[in-house]
Amino acid sequence: MYPDFAVRPFFNKYAARMAREIIHRAFPETFFRKFMLKQKNPFKEAAYALTFDFDFEKDIAAFPVLLDLLKKNNIKAGLAVIGKFVEKYPDIHKRAVEEGHEIINHSYTHPDNPHWAPDRFFNKLAYAEQKTEIEKAHETYHNILGIECIGFRTPHYGNLHTESVYPILAELGYKYSSSTAACGYKGYGAPSLHSHGIIEIPTGCSPNFPLAIFDSWNMLRKKNPFLGDDDLFVNEFNKTIEVISENNLFLTHYFDPYDIIKNKKLDRILKKLTLIKTVQYKDLFIY
Ligand SMILES: [Zn+2]
Repeated sequence: MYPDFAVRPFFNKYAARMAREIIHRAFPETFFRKFMLKQKNPFKEAAYALTFDFDFEKDIAAFPVLLDLLKKNNIKAGLAVIGKFVEKYPDIHKRAVEEGHEIINHSYTHPDNPHWAPDRFFNKLAYAEQKTEIEKAHETYHNILGIECIGFRTPHYGNLHTESVYPILAELGYKYSSSTAACGYKGYGAPSLHSHGIIEIPTGCSPNFPLAIFDSWNMLRKKNPFLGDDDLFVNEFNKTIEVISENNLFLTHYFDPYDIIKNKKLDRILKKLTLIKTVQYKDLFIY
């Protein structure tokens, strides 16, 4: 093998990291606005879709508080949930459906979830196994919650997301996937047709970090997080909503339930969201 082949991926990764560093330090908001203003907003007015991924027992523990707060603020969200958790905790999931929240298929076991599938990785599974993961979750939602799910989010997004998801979703009659990052995907933060007739809805960024995903992992939890402070996190969120509102844009984020309820972050975020039209992914298909 030519050395070039070994060096290029490393260089590309390094160059991408350097470019991100420069943009984030020098002109993040200008970049964010320019990037986002290229999008074609299907809702034609400022719209925001709030979603949560329930991956761990600690997320399930946060579920009732989260539903209470959403109800109090009259906001309907999208909840990416695991089939196994729906079997284990049917009542709280039933309550979520009754209160108008959209269930997003997040697979049956969430490979490599420590609870059920610590040694399996979604992108390493065979096509048939990936299909079973999605199909079994779908059947669980149908049997326990009485719903027909139309959208999917790959467990762990980016790294474990694979192209094979799209033909599987098409086979199952699904309409969308929300498994990519806005900064690394077409559509400039807005949904767009991916392949096999499936719409991809990328999760978004924020004005000061346009080349990152705005979530609790990147902003608060990872080693050397972008923000590392709950108040800064809420301020960044509020600023994002202001830019979205002023420019009639669409944006969606996802949050980890166990983390977002800490330190009243969710209370504060929801207050800001009462000032903008909130939508659910399924609304895309009735427009
Ligand atoms: Zn997940």
